[in-house]
Amino acid sequence: MTQLNPRQKEAVLYVDGPCLVLAGAGSGKTSVITRKIAYLIRDCELPARHIAALTFTNKAAREMKERVSSLVKGSASKGLTVSTFHNLGLNVIRRESKILGFKPGFSIFDADDARALLKELMLKEGELDNDHIDLVQNQISRWKNDLITGEQALAIAQSPAERTIARIYQRYNQALKAYNAVDFDDLILIPVNLFASNPEVLARWQRKIRYLLVDEYQDTNSSQYLLVRLLVGDRGALTVVGDDDQSIYAWRGARPENMSLLKQDFPTLKVIKLEQNYRSTSRILRVANHLIAHNPHEFDKALWSEMGLGDSIRVIRCNNEDAEAERVATEILTDRIRFQRQFRDYAILYRGNHQARLLEIKLQHHQVPYRISGGSSFFAKTEIKDIMAYLRLVVNPDDDNAFLRIINTPRRQIGTSILETLGNYAGERHISLYAASQEIGFISQLTDKNSERLQRFTHWLKQVTDRCHGEHPITAVREMIEDIDYEGWLHQNAASSKAAEKRMENVLYLVESLQKTLERAEENDDASETPMKDAIAKLVLRDLMERQEEEDDSDQVQLMTLHASKGLEFPYVYMVGLEEELLPHRNSIEDNNIEEERRLTYVGITRARKNLTMTLAGKRKQYGEISETTPSRFLDELPAEDIEREGFGQSSPEKNIAKGEETLSSLLNLFD
Ligand code: ATP
Ligand code: MG
Repeated sequence: MTQLNPRQKEAVLYVDGPCLVLAGAGSGKTSVITRKIAYLIRDCELPARHIAALTFTNKAAREMKERVSSLVKGSASKGLTVSTFHNLGLNVIRRESKILGFKPGFSIFDADDARALLKELMLKEGELDNDHIDLVQNQISRWKNDLITGEQALAIAQSPAERTIARIYQRYNQALKAYNAVDFDDLILIPVNLFASNPEVLARWQRKIRYLLVDEYQDTNSSQYLLVRLLVGDRGALTVVGDDDQSIYAWRGARPENMSLLKQDFPTLKVIKLEQNYRSTSRILRVANHLIAHNPHEFDKALWSEMGLGDSIRVIRCNNEDAEAERVATEILTDRIRFQRQFRDYAILYRGNHQARLLEIKLQHHQVPYRISGGSSFFAKTEIKDIMAYLRLVVNPDDDNAFLRIINTPRRQIGTSILETLGNYAGERHISLYAASQEIGFISQLTDKNSERLQRFTHWLKQVTDRCHGEHPITAVREMIEDIDYEGWLHQNAASSKAAEKRMENVLYLVESLQKTLERAEENDDASETPMKDAIAKLVLRDLMERQEEEDDSDQVQLMTLHASKGLEFPYVYMVGLEEELLPHRNSIEDNNIEEERRLTYVGITRARKNLTMTLAGKRKQYGEISETTPSRFLDELPAEDIEREGFGQSSPEKNIAKGEETLSSLLNLFD
């Protein structure tokens, strides 16, 4: 077990009031939270069930839970809450659903569902064209994160366009209500509004959560901050840790000012700064500090490390993106053999998910095992979305999006005209499609043949639902998938039978995960009247994807976006695409938002423990055409004495690739 330094110790032991640990990357902020939880349980004898810690990802939550349980004896950590804000919010909504007026089994709309709903609303209104959906969706999300209601949005709207968006926002909320659904932002917003308006409920939750800890505090948005403030109340039993230089979610409503707000809202706040970095070499830190000094600073921080000077930071310019990916892949392959490292010690970080494609091709080509975190999620796959839609209907028949997704998947020959009639009938009465399909008023409008198919479907759905809530839910789900002959449907529609098989495997994996989620809830004594509904809700929260990552700890190179790398560390890091328009991103240049891009670069650099390599391509295909690139301005902001440049000027970039391949082949010869 590592020894805490005096300041870390101070932060762990201070329980007399609210505490903020404000410190740079790798200084042990997350470690402080973990140790403090253990201290609260072990030494302060606060039962674990009264402690809650909030992390930024589910993966971080699981890791923290594991670490705490290794620090405290036996089952003392049982009942501890370590979760994301969204998971905590979901828990509150689930437990308080009666008071909130939700029917059992509400649905959670992910960004795609929400988008589909918005699209429909906007088309109906004919007020804005299709291209504006993203804009409207982002605005609504910002309003929700800032706790602005539809009415308020309308009142503060300045222009006709803003008024239109505000009206869509109101309709969007009405529609969610009619579908018995919430979106991601609601998972925070609804608990906040509930706590703010219902002191009894708040008091109950305050009795439950007697100490609250928050990691990555710089990335909380207004509604999340309010949730913290409400839960903590005036007891001040709060520890938050953060680094304003790592605030990279402003685009999602994060408010780094929440750091200063804390001091206002909690006048007795104790601020502790940590300055020793335990992660990186001095060179890596120097480069990081030098870069971030170009941003204005409210809080001064000086980071130092005892890990030794370390290797120079390499900046390699390759001829084009192909050569860049090739270089990274071959270098990892050769260095791993030469220095007897493991693949999992390497991370490749990039600004946008699209950059992963070429890297994947090259890594596959050289048979380097890799894993992409985040990125295109398991849940984005068509087959998973289909089966999830069935499952969502099982918990909430009023989920219109799910209903529409599967009514003709597999084909049931329920025609568009009947669906239109159904939609109109439901729209006029403000009820869901499923509810409408059950009403005599609607049924009487149909001809026999039409009616028969639809009735057969809804009748079947009802039976499946009943079985899924019975004693053998997983068997019922498997039977449902057989009933609809989903496998046959996949074979009819997939490009090849191999592709169809792969998809079916995914479906089976989903069912297994559902089963595991159910079993886990039982093991954890997470007694619930609606285990199936809860299990599905958990899956919807993308829980599965990250659990899959956690369970898979085989030896693989880690690929992820800079955003996804927050809080993590790797011995050897490659940051690719250090070019203008990529990092900093084109949109941020246009919006003059360079500071956030600089912080993102700072996050990337500070992930590295021993060695950092930055690469860029001289030419790149961007927005459909190949063009010359300009090296990122951030490269000019690094201290020259710590940087080793390659491929700029004299040395020809082509040679670089040749060099990589040469070493590779000579090494492979060695092993022949
Ligand atoms: P980030 O800002 O990237 O989230 P952090 O401040 O949360 O970083 P941690 O991840 O907690 O930092 O710690 C960084 C590394 O330093 C970890 O490997 C951790 O185990 C190690 N560490 C933390 N404190 C100490 C200590 N007192 N002695 C030795 N190692 C430590
Ligand atoms: Mg951390």
